[in-house]
Amino acid sequence: MIGRLSFIVFLSIFNPAYASHYQYTVKFVDSLASAEITVCLDGEQDDYLEIDRFVAYKTLIEKPKIKETDTDIEIEGRFWNIKGLNKNACVEYEVSLVENLLKRSTKKRGLSTSKENQKILHIEENNWLWLPEKYDSLDTIDIELILSKNYQVSTPWQQLDFNKHLYRLGHEPQDWGFHIVIGDIDVAQIEIGNDRRINIATINASGTTKSTTQFINQWLRNIANSVKNYLGQYPLKQMQVVVYPQDGVKRSPVPWGEISRGNGLGILFVIRPDHAIEDFYDDWTASHEFAHSLLPKLRYRDIWLSEGLASYLQYVLMAQNNQLTKEQSWKRIYKGFQKGIKGTQSVGREKLLDVSDNRKRGARSGRTMRIYWSGAAYFLKADIRLRKESKGIVGLNDVLLKLSNCCLKGSKVWSGGALASKLDELSNTTVFSILYKNMAYSSEFPKFNKEFESLGFDISESSIMLGKYSETTLSNSIMTARNHSQ
Ligand SMILES: [Zn+2]
Repeated sequence: MIGRLSFIVFLSIFNPAYASHYQYTVKFVDSLASAEITVCLDGEQDDYLEIDRFVAYKTLIEKPKIKETDTDIEIEGRFWNIKGLNKNACVEYEVSLVENLLKRSTKKRGLSTSKENQKILHIEENNWLWLPEKYDSLDTIDIELILSKNYQVSTPWQQLDFNKHLYRLGHEPQDWGFHIVIGDIDVAQIEIGNDRRINIATINASGTTKSTTQFINQWLRNIANSVKNYLGQYPLKQMQVVVYPQDGVKRSPVPWGEISRGNGLGILFVIRPDHAIEDFYDDWTASHEFAHSLLPKLRYRDIWLSEGLASYLQYVLMAQNNQLTKEQSWKRIYKGFQKGIKGTQSVGREKLLDVSDNRKRGARSGRTMRIYWSGAAYFLKADIRLRKESKGIVGLNDVLLKLSNCCLKGSKVWSGGALASKLDELSNTTVFSILYKNMAYSSEFPKFNKEFESLGFDISESSIMLGKYSETTLSNSIMTARNHSQ
């Protein structure tokens, strides 16, 4: 035993995979038009710092120098050569952020005209941080932002200290998209259960419209809590939400929602605050986007699984959260499946795995319905089978909770097959892989009448309408949150 222990110690000391630490300090000028950035190395470091966009060099006001000796760093296109630098060396440079300052306009993502001297940086592409070329899972990059007390910060990064703007970058690649917003914004830190929180940033907050920031934050907290109640715990320790109010009353109170995963998870909502707050609770968009946080990044061919889970859960969450009745919720799912059938018929025979790629080239709307609702059928079927096989003890939520504890973070892009195997392993079944094989290679929309019968609906052979509903134990177990608290 002692021999084995010392062998392990030996291995960990001489493990060639060194962990590197990089400490960034970003000091903003008060106008937010530029920043001085210091990168300090700690221990073994990469040979290069790099940035994805070649044109980023245009933002350099002061070229990179070694702080201690005031000597230039060699620039090779997108790369800065830091080979052979002292192990505790620091590199300094200065960037212009003028390109990232929001301008006053009434158009999409502009500043509102109501506040004078309002300053907001919105960074969606990296043109300021030269980062280590390799960022392995053991490495750490911490960033401290130093700025005027009047400003607030919203990033997808993990905040290490809530008394200052000190963050650790997640290992998810930046080209998975991100939003960093800094300046005159409204940021609320909201706890979702024990030791979990979402931070909600509102750009152009306005107190004059029907749904003020306070009500919008309450609504988002309510939706986040519905995810927590579904799972038993909120899936992430910290998550960023960015709210972008836009003038006007369009049909939907939330015309746009998108999830981004670069360096951490964030959701951006475009909202219409002229809607009454009740309209927001009637809308499914927020439940859909929050549900996306339950799966890791999937390869493009398999987005039917991520869109499918979000489409299925948007209505399950709304029923569990009393935004819809159980019957209403099932009927919406059923209606979705009808759209899926129509979408499948509107294009030629193609297997589900090819639909996403084909959608890029050809007709979109039918394929979109096929992608979303085939995936929803996958998770409904899996949920029902799990509950039947376990005699009601295990549901999809239990398996997703385990997945959230092992597999949501990091730079891995999952194939649908790999995800199905992992879900099988976590549920100790073969439910997910068998369903995956049946559906991914099929050119037909899956059948679902038997499932709806087991949920308590009468279905006649000749009609596509659902008949009378009388609740079954199965329906009730899916549509009732086991972990109720706000
Ligand atoms: Zn989606």
